Amino acid sequence: MIKHSFRTLDRVFKSLFSIEWIHEDPELLREKFQDHKIFASRIFILGAMIGSGLWIWDDVIDPAGAVQTVRFRLVYLIFLLLPWLFKHTDDLRRLTLFSIGIILFTEALFVHILTYLKMGMVYGIGGFMYYMLIPPLALQPFSLKSSLLYIVLAALLPHIMALTGMAPGFEHLHYAVLIWPAAALAMLIQYFYALEYRQRYNLKKRLETLSYTDTLSGLYNRRYFMQFMQKELKRFERHGKPFSFLMIDIDHFKKINDTFGHPVGDTVIQAVSALLRREIREMDFAARIGGEEFAVVLPETGNMMALDVADRIRRTAENFKLSTPTHEAVRFKLSIGIASAKRGYDISDLMRAADTALYEAKKRGRNRVCFFTGDTVSPVSELG
Ligand code: GH3
Ligand code: MG
Ligand code: MG
Repeated sequence: MIKHSFRTLDRVFKSLFSIEWIHEDPELLREKFQDHKIFASRIFILGAMIGSGLWIWDDVIDPAGAVQTVRFRLVYLIFLLLPWLFKHTDDLRRLTLFSIGIILFTEALFVHILTYLKMGMVYGIGGFMYYMLIPPLALQPFSLKSSLLYIVLAALLPHIMALTGMAPGFEHLHYAVLIWPAAALAMLIQYFYALEYRQRYNLKKRLETLSYTDTLSGLYNRRYFMQFMQKELKRFERHGKPFSFLMIDIDHFKKINDTFGHPVGDTVIQAVSALLRREIREMDFAARIGGEEFAVVLPETGNMMALDVADRIRRTAENFKLSTPTHEAVRFKLSIGIASAKRGYDISDLMRAADTALYEAKKRGRNRVCFFTGDTVSPVSELG
């Protein structure tokens, strides 16, 4: 237990002395907003309750003056606008500015309220602590930069009001001693929170990538391929967007394994993956769907164009030479089956069609491309 506490303390000190600026990219910020908007909405509702309900302090400080402040206290209900906005817009920039603006407005309002109370500025000074505690929580959906900016502005605002005569009797040097250490602490807490969020976000992204990546080849895995095909089929059904699908198998791969060993076999799988990545467009999709089987989905591509792509892949593989650690030359060839989307096809129909074409390519001597042309199994054309 004690050892654990020391270790935590050690970590905190280490990060304290190696503070780096936390980069938050737009994607992270969008997720941060989604992850925190419900929490922040609740804090704003709490803010509305506290801001209006703390009229009770006004009454304790000066019952006569408190008669005047009730109406101002009700303005705190403006905080209820923010949960509503969170629900109806996701324009982050505007939401950030609006949230900070409203909070600062209520802070100015608070100073104004205190001026109505006898000795208000003296007894109410502690109320500024709320502005270091609660709004930073409500700003969690936004960037670290904006919450740090808020803290600085919120700490400065009462000084400005005092210096411009808007807060008569306000001992703002006394206030400074109270508030600036609290502001520094609040900024530190915001920093660590943002740091922790980014670490969690990066971990989540890494896990996500792992969940759809095939480790050996770096291509997408079979599961993600199925999802992608499903989406393409839906697009085809809805908007008639054609797409083609290549099923690719390395010829006589067992022989490569048997001759050069499994690790060289793995290198061949990696070489085919790299080759596929090079030969396809950015919008195309390549996955490893089996041991030495690959799938390429070509969106917005009909049969004839797919044939060109497939044959280019086949030829590139044919001309490729790989060298083993003992400098032996390894060559490999590919057989490819093509199928294009058709009305009423589901994934298994499409897979079966491509598989039939691939089988035909193997049967006709390998190192060739076949495509499935009809609803029946037999009509397969070839090119090789
Ligand atoms: P064909 O031309 O008919 O496709 O012949 P083939 O030898 O390629 O056919 P088959 O599908 O029977 O053999 C595939 C082999 O791929 C069998 C398996 O040992 C090997 N294999 C599967 N996954 C891996 C892998 O991750 N690494 C390596 N090195 N070999 C693998
Ligand atoms: Mg094979
Ligand atoms: Mg195979």
